[in-house]
Amino acid sequence: MKIAVLGAGVAGVTTAYVLASRGHDVDVIEQASEAATECSYANGGQLSYTHAEPWANPGVFPKLFKWMFQDDAPLVFRLLPDPHQIKWSLQFLLNCSAKNAHRNCETMLRLGMYSREKMHTIDETTKLDFDYRKEGILHIFTDQKALDAAIAHNRFQMSLGLGGEEVELSREECIAKEPALASSTKPFIGGMYSAVDESGDVRMFTAGLAKYCAEKLGVTFHYNTRIAWLREKKSKIKHIETSKGKMTADAYIVCLGAYSPKYVRGLGIPIPVYPMKGYSITVPAWESAPTLSITDDEKKIVFSRLGDRIRAAGTAEFAGYNQRIREKRIRPLLTCMKEIFPEAQTKKAEKWACLRPQTPDGPPLVGPTKYNNLYLHTGHGTLGWTQSAGTAHILADIIEDREPEISIDGLTFPRRT
Ligand SMILES: Cc1cc2nc3c(=O)[nH]c(=O)nc-3n(C[C@H](O)[C@H](O)[C@H](O)COP(=O)(O)OP(=O)(O)OC[C@H]3O[C@@H](n4cnc5c(N)ncnc54)[C@H](O)[C@@H]3O)c2cc1C
Repeated sequence: MKIAVLGAGVAGVTTAYVLASRGHDVDVIEQASEAATECSYANGGQLSYTHAEPWANPGVFPKLFKWMFQDDAPLVFRLLPDPHQIKWSLQFLLNCSAKNAHRNCETMLRLGMYSREKMHTIDETTKLDFDYRKEGILHIFTDQKALDAAIAHNRFQMSLGLGGEEVELSREECIAKEPALASSTKPFIGGMYSAVDESGDVRMFTAGLAKYCAEKLGVTFHYNTRIAWLREKKSKIKHIETSKGKMTADAYIVCLGAYSPKYVRGLGIPIPVYPMKGYSITVPAWESAPTLSITDDEKKIVFSRLGDRIRAAGTAEFAGYNQRIREKRIRPLLTCMKEIFPEAQTKKAEKWACLRPQTPDGPPLVGPTKYNNLYLHTGHGTLGWTQSAGTAHILADIIEDREPEISIDGLTFPRRT
């Protein structure tokens, strides 16, 4: 089958890889001059398969108002005169109920554990270099109530029978696991360690996989090619119009990240994806820099060792399609890094901001649309790298009319609730 993949972020490139590995003739259309220039450029680097707690949960709901007035809040919500944002926000609030959060958590964990398996296969087959570390992820906590909630949440996750056990550690045990925490001035009281989680550099992974696809699997990458419209006729997409002319395929897959809704809404597919801005800083690693990926639960900031660099990433902000780097939102990353790792050379920080394609419930949108040759592979939000290997396989199965290896409940559009 001739398949056009729209977008060369991690979602698009993993899709191209899986489809081309199965013998399809794949074209990738990307506006930039290379793969991984947008959200898959400098993310937190975590493959946090077991981190299946959606942003929309009962614990977040009471904090939303307080965070609105706090510059260093993990999530800053600003109401914009945008009907799409209002609709998205209402859906987010509905998903904050315990029942919905549990359902979404199960979907994300099911997908996360499946993705881990598929990520390992990609790694073994391609042998790409992306500063991959299979050492686990340690969440540190400053507040006993938050730690207790995390223990209870992990107990719930374990009751689902999908794996992903976390181990509770005292402060001393956290330091023994990651000695770089010994100099931390943050008064963390303990942590939760997940051995099956991993980390690495998403850009090296995505760019490396794109090169592999082009050289080993015959995928054609059309870079510097901007998609303008998708043209439909009856129940099918007829062609796409790009800055380099019309392009046709048997099937089209939307992997346009936070920009996906702009291209499908006009076709009567109102996907609930909204841009959620995030920031990262990258500094050179110092002698005693951590090797273990760490999450500061209080600030929702993650740290990953990427070869000779340390990256800190986090914060969520609703600012529409504005990608400007605001110093106010970079500051919490710099402060948090200095507090946990006083030796970090934050003056040398490379700063970055980008828009996550966020759904209100948490899980991504994977699968068919009302057009019988148009498919969605977007809306991965805060876990796009973690989940892409799994979602790409699910999508390939759907296109080939095969039963996916795991249930796709909670992943397709429209959502059941
Ligand atoms: C600060 C931050 C930290 C994060 N940390 C993590 C983490 O630790 N772990 C994790 O799993 N996830 C993390 N994420 C989320 C993850 O990075 C994203 O979910 C993922 O990169 C989204 O990939 P994508 O391919 O859907 O989108 P993108 O990478 O944005 O790709 C979309 C592509 O579509 C192209 N495009 C858009 N419009 C057009 C057009 N008209 N024509 C042609 N091409 C077009 C873009 O140029 C782009 O290349 C983080 C995100 C942020 C912002």
